[in-house]
Amino acid sequence: MTEERKWIVTSAWPYINAVPHLGNLIGSVLSADIFARYCRLKDDKVVFVSGSDEHGTPVAVSAMQKNITPEELIKKNHKYIKDLFEKWEISYDNYTETHNDIHFKFVQDFFKRIEENGYIFVKEEVVLYCKNCNLYLPDRFIEGKCPFCGGKARGDQCDECGRLLKPIQLIDYYCKSCGKKNIEETKSKHWYMDFPRLEEKLRDFIENGTFTPNAINICKNFIKDGIPARAVTRDLEWGIPAPFEGADNKVIYVWFEAVLGYISAVKEWALKIKDDETLFHYFWKDKDSKSVYFIGKDNIIFHLIIFPGLIFAYNEGLPENEKLNLPFDISTTEFLMYEGGKFSKSQKRGIWIDEAIEILPPDYWRYYLIRNRPELKDTSFQWSEFENSLGELNDIIGNFVHRILTFTKKNFNSTVPEPGAYDDLDENLISRINKSIQKIESLYEEIKLKSALEEIVSLAREGNKYFNIKEPWHLIDEDKEKVGTILYLCIQLIYILSILLCPVIPNSVKKIFSLLNRSEDIGKHNWNELNDFAIQPGNKINKSTPLFKKYKLKELMKKYKKIKEKDNS
Ligand SMILES: [Zn+2]
Ligand SMILES: [Zn+2]
Repeated sequence: MTEERKWIVTSAWPYINAVPHLGNLIGSVLSADIFARYCRLKDDKVVFVSGSDEHGTPVAVSAMQKNITPEELIKKNHKYIKDLFEKWEISYDNYTETHNDIHFKFVQDFFKRIEENGYIFVKEEVVLYCKNCNLYLPDRFIEGKCPFCGGKARGDQCDECGRLLKPIQLIDYYCKSCGKKNIEETKSKHWYMDFPRLEEKLRDFIENGTFTPNAINICKNFIKDGIPARAVTRDLEWGIPAPFEGADNKVIYVWFEAVLGYISAVKEWALKIKDDETLFHYFWKDKDSKSVYFIGKDNIIFHLIIFPGLIFAYNEGLPENEKLNLPFDISTTEFLMYEGGKFSKSQKRGIWIDEAIEILPPDYWRYYLIRNRPELKDTSFQWSEFENSLGELNDIIGNFVHRILTFTKKNFNSTVPEPGAYDDLDENLISRINKSIQKIESLYEEIKLKSALEEIVSLAREGNKYFNIKEPWHLIDEDKEKVGTILYLCIQLIYILSILLCPVIPNSVKKIFSLLNRSEDIGKHNWNELNDFAIQPGNKINKSTPLFKKYKLKELMKKYKKIKEKDNS
């Protein structure tokens, strides 16, 4: 018997301040969902977590501008986004938020331990203070010009050239909340993470990992000149209070606590949802358990340097079976653009995930997005391609299911026929099915989701072709047994396709399972069933109705325009 596989599947934590658009969704959340669903079909043990990233200055700034508390803001937004992911059939085991007790305690204990292990030191630095607002101005509380490119920049980063900045480096800076320049330079103590001490360990970790050459290069470039120590505290009220002696009125920098959410979310799931704390140990400390992170390509350093660095510092001095596992792998994509350009909320360019499901049910979008997943290069959402994709889903997959089942109902009284002897064409189809299953399995394993779906569609095409060449409608009077064989094989193929498609279009697959009278079997060892023809002769099937609708581009565009006219945010 093969060893049971265990996975922690995670997607980047969406920042609570904005609804994700289609590009955000395919880059992390949806891809992670497909992989988690695939692993479950294989009978692997899976916990799939993520949550809203709720701290940091953007939330504090935005709440201040709306004249509400940050708590009120996040409560509303978290519920909205969580509901959306449910509507999109994202199969999280725990979609949580960083503003919760378990996460707070976990983060504070974690940093206490790192401090005890000698990885935290204190340094005084020059910071900016708004005398008008009586507020320190870290990160996004302050804006000005970038000292490198002159572009508009915030206290933590320049969006134009992408450089990381400190507030004090900005030129012509002003307070983000009052817009004034009544700012003084003052000194403040901050707590730093001693990354230089971890350099060697991190270098080994990168070089011995199974990461893509691209990810390894990005990390090596980053490490090349040494990893700088980083301040883990901020002068803010909104966030997780720093647990260090003398660090009153300071919080942990949002980047350093949000990544720990991957760990605390599993802990919360084990404690609150499963009521079994051993599951936390099982997934995070058992050495066979593997964690995979579906993240944007601009997020690699944080997941392969900063996060493992924190774990190394935490693990030091712990017995082997208490150590947290290091990340096993990351999966990144290139970018999905919108009609050749960037998504832009202010210019009303693009489709956000709440808008999308007002236009069409999620399976259509899931199918399209995976079909166009930017795996090797940037791809672009094009309405015309979207229409083609929907046509393909209907014509190749939907129609195959519908015509086979309708033909079976009419000629075999809704009963799966007994197969007779196979001829060459039958044998060819069977061998093609087996080859495709193997190929699709390895593509899913490598998280090449676009290619996996491509092969599934190609297999469905093969099924259509087989049925057309066989022309059973001409044979039904003279050779019913032969027709029985054709339908028997096609029904097996429908079931096989539905299992292969299950991660991508789960709702439609549920319908196919119910048409085949297999509703109660969904999620039960389904991947193993691919190897034998699981639908027995004599089984009843249900009356088929078309799985998908065919949509005209004009119709969809009309809905889209209406939504955009409504949107005044
Ligand atoms: Zn710049
Ligand atoms: Zn101010």
